Amino acid sequence: MTALVTGGASGIGRATALLLAGRGATVAVLDLDPSGAPDPLLRVRADVADDASVASAVAEALDRLGGLDVLVNNAGIGAAGTVEAGGLDEWRRVLEVNLLGTVRVTRAALPALRASAAASIVVIGSIVATAGLPERALYSASKGAVTALARAMAADHVGEGIRVNCVHPGTVDTPWIGRLLDAAADPDAALTALRARQPLGRLVSMDEVAHAVAYLASPAAASVTGTELAVDGGMAGL
Ligand code: NAD
Repeated sequence: MTALVTGGASGIGRATALLLAGRGATVAVLDLDPSGAPDPLLRVRADVADDASVASAVAEALDRLGGLDVLVNNAGIGAAGTVEAGGLDEWRRVLEVNLLGTVRVTRAALPALRASAAASIVVIGSIVATAGLPERALYSASKGAVTALARAMAADHVGEGIRVNCVHPGTVDTPWIGRLLDAAADPDAALTALRARQPLGRLVSMDEVAHAVAYLASPAAASVTGTELAVDGGMAGL
């Protein structure tokens, strides 16, 4: 199996890339800063918000992988606040990365996926796509958009044998959440408050999300397409 994981040098993407590689896949990570991806992962530098950068990086990754079975659209950035927060430039920036980044990489990867006998795409959404959490208007809009995109792509490409599914992580213990906690006035109190909002009483681990992605990308999920799988400790559903 060959796989390309965007944002694969940190957090959920890195855990996913390493899990797939551990199961025998040849895996390339495409990242703004791929240095965080250890061997045996293949490192490709790109900004998913930039057309030319994605075109050349995906071409390089496909060349080094020798084909593509699995695309994991994971690269993403956050934004806080209500619909009135930030300038429209910030809205455009987040949509450029979270939504159009997924579009760019997928468009570049589809010809190779069509040539695979076991092709699948996994999009990393978020529980905010369905849960309606406060102070997350822009981020939620971007994740709702990629969730709808995943369903639409599942319908468009099912006839080509390409499965498309979405994983909705809850609050996952990644460097991203670490940065948010570090920026809080009282990081310990912020972590306690975060845990208190989790039905299971703890944050989700990166590996738990990675296992969900690996399942959806595997032959075990050969009949699974157009679905959304929440790995959120019960946050959205309970
Ligand atoms: P992270 O910050 O640890 O890792 C994100 C990676 O994406 C980094 O390596 C970064 O360099 C890369 N990246 C960012 N912008 C990029 C760009 N323009 N081009 C290429 N690479 C880029 O974050 P994470 O917590 O692992 O999040 C990964 C995904 O999971 C994101 O899509 C995020 O929205 C989603 N998610 C995270 C959580 C959470 O609680 N951590 C919850 C729900 C969804």
